[in-house]
Amino acid sequence: MQYADKTLTCRDCNATFAFTSGEQEFYASRGFDNQPSRCPSCRMARKAERSNSPGSTGYAGGSYATAPRREMFVTTCASCNGEARVPFQPRGDKPVFCSDCFETQRGGAGRPSSARGTFR
Ligand SMILES: [Zn+2]
Ligand SMILES: [Zn+2]
Repeated sequence: MQYADKTLTCRDCNATFAFTSGEQEFYASRGFDNQPSRCPSCRMARKAERSNSPGSTGYAGGSYATAPRREMFVTTCASCNGEARVPFQPRGDKPVFCSDCFETQRGGAGRPSSARGTFR
């Protein structure tokens, strides 16, 4: 059977594209008797869309670089009365600690506070 190149119109972007004799042969050999309804680039785009896992943005690890800088609030540390910078608005119903004291509170449980200083 002889095949001749055809010009088809993409149903997605309305661009015309060639349905070559080689492709027609390939389609026929696969048992497809319909012709492609989308241009190669739209077909590829649809394929890429389907192969991408949902939620994937295509790049990883860039979220910190693009994240807006958090506003910091300056208040007084409830432990050492020093300057404490916190990423939230202090409401006054909870003690706010500076980063040093916060670390001591969180990680220093059971550890004598005098051990800090000599640690490094
Ligand atoms: Zn198209
Ligand atoms: Zn403090």
